[in-house]
Amino acid sequence: RPRALSGIQPTAGSFHLGNYLGAIRQYVALQETHDAFYMVVDLHAITVPQDPAELRANTRLAVAQLLASGLDPDRCTLFVQSHVPEHAQLGWVMNCLTGFGEASRMTQFKDKSAKQGADRATVGLFTYPILQVADILLYQAEAVPVGEDQRQHIELTRDLAERFNTRFGATFTVPAPHIVKEVAKIYDLQDPTSKMSKSASTPKGLVNLLDEPKTTAKKIRSAVTDTGTVISFDPVEKAGISNLLTIYATLTGRSIPELVKEYEGRMYGALKTDLAEIVVDFVTPFRERTQAYLDDPETLDSILAKGAEKARAVAAESLATAYDRIGLLPAK
Ligand code: ATP
Ligand code: MG
Repeated sequence: RPRALSGIQPTAGSFHLGNYLGAIRQYVALQETHDAFYMVVDLHAITVPQDPAELRANTRLAVAQLLASGLDPDRCTLFVQSHVPEHAQLGWVMNCLTGFGEASRMTQFKDKSAKQGADRATVGLFTYPILQVADILLYQAEAVPVGEDQRQHIELTRDLAERFNTRFGATFTVPAPHIVKEVAKIYDLQDPTSKMSKSASTPKGLVNLLDEPKTTAKKIRSAVTDTGTVISFDPVEKAGISNLLTIYATLTGRSIPELVKEYEGRMYGALKTDLAEIVVDFVTPFRERTQAYLDDPETLDSILAKGAEKARAVAAESLATAYDRIGLLPAK
């Protein structure tokens, strides 16, 4: 089986609809076809200030949400990034292979540091894509299920894998992004030209899976749409309504043309009301399942312990090979 790997940050507590549709649904699908490794990337979360108690709680909450989404610890390896020390170790090696200019071109850093104020941004935020390179290469992953916003980081990963292999001999698998075009970018409900984001969306534009379902329904019903009246799929001219159609189609398994036909001659409000109900029907049992996992911390801990053990076995081998290839003297 080919390997797959991905990670999600435990910041902000709840996952949002963009995380679920753009990434997590693909994690669930790939556990059937791939030897899949999924992790909660707590080391990435600390690139921005975190409250220690909250970080710990949010890490558990992230694991619970992944399980509630359908990840099955018997079919994939689920773990917490900091439980596998090889990530930070190979991260350093990758830092030493990355050009400063190359790292400076990462648009996520530009966006995120601009938001924080350039003086506040940490060196960790600057190098986080390079830690991500290590995350992926340690597992010799072929497929990396992510949203569109991560494409540039996967490109960097490919470049660094090839650079390492050229300089030191074939060591790492060169990965490819696994991006499902239709759902690669779910947009903010209030600003349908920017991506829905844990850290950058306005509360009204962000559909958190763990929000009160009533709040969620209200957010969907008040989503920003254009001033037209015809429901059609046109991401440029009708960004808001197209985003809602994408969400609708993915959650129901129906096609967009079919939906457009069904809503012919009807108002935007009708679509929003129906979609609000569909999302509520999705999040209600999701919240319950998440809570059930949180209520059973022993099971959760044992899943993570097994996951870390399986992950470490793979990661340690890759790291040892890399250390050897670059000429680090083995400890006797
Ligand atoms: P932040 O804005 O703080 O970076 P985030 O909302 O991007 O948070 P992450 O944990 O960084 O969340 O991303 C987890 C996964 O979800 C990644 O694979 C990312 O590409 C995907 N993703 C995030 N936002 C969206 C979105 N709006 N549409 C589709 N996929 C998304
Ligand atoms: Mg992100």
